[in-house]
Amino acid sequence: MTEDIKFILSEIEDQYLHDDNPRPWIIGFSGGKDSTMLLQLVWLAIRALPKELRTRRIYVVCNDTLVENPKISSFIHKTLQDIQAEAVKQAMPITVHQTTPRLEDTFWVNLLGKGYPAPNNTFRWCTDRLKINPTTEFIKAKISEVGEAIILLGTRSDESATRARSIEKSKIHIESQRLRKHMLPNAFVFAPISDILTDDLWQYLLQVNPPWGGTHRDLITLYRNANGGDCPLVIDTTTPSCGNSRFGCWVCTVVKKDKSMDALIDNGEDWLEPLAEFRDMLQDNRNNREWRQKWRRNGSEQEQDEKDWGPYVPERRAYMLKILLQAQKEVQKTEKDLVLINFQELVAIQVTWHRDSIFQYSVASIFNDVYGTGYENSDFNDQNIFEKQILKEACQTEEDFELINELLEIQKSKYILVNNYGLQSDIENHIESYSKKL
Ligand code: SF4
Repeated sequence: MTEDIKFILSEIEDQYLHDDNPRPWIIGFSGGKDSTMLLQLVWLAIRALPKELRTRRIYVVCNDTLVENPKISSFIHKTLQDIQAEAVKQAMPITVHQTTPRLEDTFWVNLLGKGYPAPNNTFRWCTDRLKINPTTEFIKAKISEVGEAIILLGTRSDESATRARSIEKSKIHIESQRLRKHMLPNAFVFAPISDILTDDLWQYLLQVNPPWGGTHRDLITLYRNANGGDCPLVIDTTTPSCGNSRFGCWVCTVVKKDKSMDALIDNGEDWLEPLAEFRDMLQDNRNNREWRQKWRRNGSEQEQDEKDWGPYVPERRAYMLKILLQAQKEVQKTEKDLVLINFQELVAIQVTWHRDSIFQYSVASIFNDVYGTGYENSDFNDQNIFEKQILKEACQTEEDFELINELLEIQKSKYILVNNYGLQSDIENHIESYSKKL
């Protein structure tokens, strides 16, 4: 073990034991090399402590944008399962949590539902919605439970000049030797591997197996394949560095070419081709005048500048949904459980089309066309879906959600009948019978 690694392990251990009233640690885990190294070192440092001292909770949080590259997504999913299982076996105070964007924030609901144009550098509407907000909500929830939290990041100074600058700048806010303030109130950042160089990082991962089992071979292969056969020590600096991921979303049009996807296909993952073609279609037609409305979503008319063009016209939204479903059907020949767009998103798209007065296209008939199924329009037309999703996120437990949802249904039934008579007593009766049930 090198002196650097020994030093980092002792720093982690010291910080872990630092508070009397331990603030939880939240590790942002992307499955990439940096957060893998970070989690591995944290794990090893804490495992060396006697069990009775492992009292501080460690939450490993991984965000799924729902448009992850499927190859990377399945690798991360398997890793998270291993981490959770081994944490229990080894009595580690670690739990794994997966976050996802809210339904109204998903890529498909915005692109195909609202007609937002594919993101680019001037209108990058996706990063907050898909990557930043879900994790931020998780951190905020933990802070509201316990008062403060420490976020562990795998940021490193040698990654790029920009990163180096941002790490350097943030040192102005240093409160102690190791922690700096996070932009969220009552949150602090601890970046224990910030001084590790990329070559040393790979060297370490090549030599030391993960404490959650297996080897890092799959991770190294993934980097090698996604970098066009290069040695994993070479970093692909063209992929967007939003969130923690080196591999952007498979739909990403902020980069000119998705080199990771192309390299995976070149390395034998041919079944990913329909996804690459779909992304290219998005890219090629983003600024196609025929595809975009004159009207922006706020009602103003725009003609002049391409950056002011409105959302996609209804016909193109419907067309893209069809092509997406065809791509999904195609990839399911190889990966039968792979879902590119989920059922809730399809329902939300239909609801959004109706809100936009789009009645000439229906999600059900597009789906039936592609899959040969017999869905009715009403199967994709649950007006309550957004409200239910928001309510679910706001409730702390399933029981809270169930009760409040039922009370809302009672209230709605009165509303539909344009008659509020007896609403209060109905609600009181329901709460009473519900509490007897518990
Ligand atoms: S990877 Fe691309 S599509 Fe995904 S959130 Fe980042 S900029 Fe948006």
